[in-house]
Amino acid sequence: MKLEIQNLSKSYGEKKALSHVSLTLTPGVYGLLGPNGAGKSTLMNIITDNVRLDSGEICFNGESIFKMGKRFRKILGYMPQQQELYPSFTGWRFLNYMAALKGMTKEQAKQEILQTAKLVNLDGDLNRRLGGYSGGMKQRILIAQAILNRPQVLILDEPTAGLDPKERIRIRNLISKIALDKIVLIATHVVSDIEYIAKEIILLKKGEILSQKEPSALAEEL
Ligand code: ADP
Ligand code: ADP
Repeated sequence: MKLEIQNLSKSYGEKKALSHVSLTLTPGVYGLLGPNGAGKSTLMNIITDNVRLDSGEICFNGESIFKMGKRFRKILGYMPQQQELYPSFTGWRFLNYMAALKGMTKEQAKQEILQTAKLVNLDGDLNRRLGGYSGGMKQRILIAQAILNRPQVLILDEPTAGLDPKERIRIRNLISKIALDKIVLIATHVVSDIEYIAKEIILLKKGEILSQKEPSALAEEL
């Protein structure tokens, strides 16, 4: 399994957000590290087809993901950086709604929701309303919706934003557990979120890749 990002460029007007970004991703966790404005969200938004690229190509197992269209979306899981949760929805209703959007049947949805909720440790909280969830619970249910369809490619944009150290560790453990057979790309500006679970850390700055290295190699450098 392979996701190849080839010579990707994107500008917003005069502002260059990504220039000539190339990456090859195989199963495992990749940390995408860079300061605000580096282009992390833009890269993720292009892979998830929420932003259009100017030039370049992205291929999954040799086939353009843009030509694959719906077929690629079926194997993709995405947790956007900021997502409003309807406070009055219960956890169950939210996941059920997301499952329907992903085209799952009622029966499939029910099975996957129960399993996924266990995995993210929310199986006891599905009847509670999201408005009463803690920050960590909200992040975990967002991860749950991203993995409901058992994606092969999982994109997580700042999955630990705003969380305390204890919850960060919890999310980190959860991600390493679900990452075994997937290509996982995690954007963060917190090195500790990814240094123990990533096989490679990609440093992005001003829309360009500065390096792509194993965490230990990067640690020696810093
Ligand atoms: P990051 O996620 O690393 O913070 P972004 O991908 O959000 O970086 O932003 C990369 C650059 O593109 C920044 O300079 C940002 O201001 C600019 N940018 C992002 N989105 C837009 C947009 N919709 N319109 C104009 N400029 C944008
Ligand atoms: P509807 O789509 O009619 O509103 P629900 O989404 O409430 O129905 O429920 C759909 C199915 O999921 C039903 O079989 C219901 O028993 C089951 N269900 C609803 N909430 C939960 C839950 N928290 N845990 C397990 N099963 C649930």
